[in-house]
Amino acid sequence: MRKLIFLLLLFAASFSFAQQKTIAIRCGKLLDTRSGKVLLNQVILVKGNKIESVTDAAGFKQKADSVIDLSNYFVLPGLIDCHTHVLLQGDITSEDYDVQLLKESIPYRTLRASKSAHQSLLNGFTTIRDLGTEGAGYADVDIKKAINNKVIPGPRMFVSTLAINTTGHYPIAVKDYAWELKLPKGLQEITGADEGRRAVREQLAHGADWIKIYADRGYYKLPTGEYKSIPNFTKEEIEAIGDETIKSRKRLAAHAVTPDGIIYSINAGAKSIEHGFGMNDECMKLMVQKNVFWCPTIYVNEYVAEGRYKAGSIMNKLFMETEPAVFKKAMSYGVKIAYGTDIGGYDWMEPQTKDFELFIQYGMSPLQAIQTATINGAELLDQTGLIGELIPGAFADIIAVKEDPLTNIKVLGNVKWVMKDGVVYKSVK
Ligand SMILES: [Zn+2]
Repeated sequence: MRKLIFLLLLFAASFSFAQQKTIAIRCGKLLDTRSGKVLLNQVILVKGNKIESVTDAAGFKQKADSVIDLSNYFVLPGLIDCHTHVLLQGDITSEDYDVQLLKESIPYRTLRASKSAHQSLLNGFTTIRDLGTEGAGYADVDIKKAINNKVIPGPRMFVSTLAINTTGHYPIAVKDYAWELKLPKGLQEITGADEGRRAVREQLAHGADWIKIYADRGYYKLPTGEYKSIPNFTKEEIEAIGDETIKSRKRLAAHAVTPDGIIYSINAGAKSIEHGFGMNDECMKLMVQKNVFWCPTIYVNEYVAEGRYKAGSIMNKLFMETEPAVFKKAMSYGVKIAYGTDIGGYDWMEPQTKDFELFIQYGMSPLQAIQTATINGAELLDQTGLIGELIPGAFADIIAVKEDPLTNIKVLGNVKWVMKDGVVYKSVK
């Protein structure tokens, strides 16, 4: 009997091995995202959902089940967007936000989110970290599950579910309605360290890969030029959330805009600072010291600035003015920057690649800009070696564009071919 089971297992193993089809992808140019070298005439051998080898075409002798010819294309790893909201479809004003939370059911929002997730994949972003469902419960876990089970096409997803803030402190939110109405919340509200721990435990139990907090609110600028805000959590609350997250071997992302929010988020264990428009030297030094990433989300700030200004808020305009200098200074300190757009905060049909152009405008080389959305994103997500570079053992997440993005970064906004997990989702026309 034992022998029979062994033979059956052996058969099953060899069957699954035989199922792993191989694809040889001929690449005219290929970017090594770590060294910045552009390699000519390479062949990527994909086996199942992983990259088996990357070799010179001249020396490639292996037989593959199929061949894809990208010899007229520039090939690079699938891009990583570390700040998205698939369950939002643009919220320039609080009215835009309220319509989605109050007039669209969660099933309807989830259907729209599946389209947004697909759009991300077509844009060449084969991995996203989605930072909050904004009132749509745990629907991000369902979207991720449907993608992983191949029910719908979409990127590799890291989800943060509800996000956490303290009672009554969510900045945008559904507000100014009759007090007796029971309306949905854009996130999970807590008061006290124990409720913070409970929120983290509940979210992780429901499938959160990351915990997202909103660390500060009420932004203003002093005559000295320094930005200030009100921290949302007490020290006990934020430390409890950080502790509970890190003990569960998960990571904390903090929406934090000024030093008041940024410094106490980092001290509570945050791995990434989202937005950070008003950061100062002290924040930057601490980020370098503690290996904390910055997701600058520059384009979304520009995108919403005018609309919010018309609605009475000047802050996004002020941040726009000071952003280039803050960015340059952060670079000079060596703050690690991960590409994050906050798309969903603006319409998913708008470009997802505008931040590359802004990064270069503010002083990055094209390679550094691409690295934010490849090896840096991979490191932030604890996926180094698996995504963000085309090396043996990495997932076969590969994209192709027509021109060299190192000389024309705009070409990343026109991705021609997309493979994720060894499956082609967009073909060359
Ligand atoms: Zn966001």
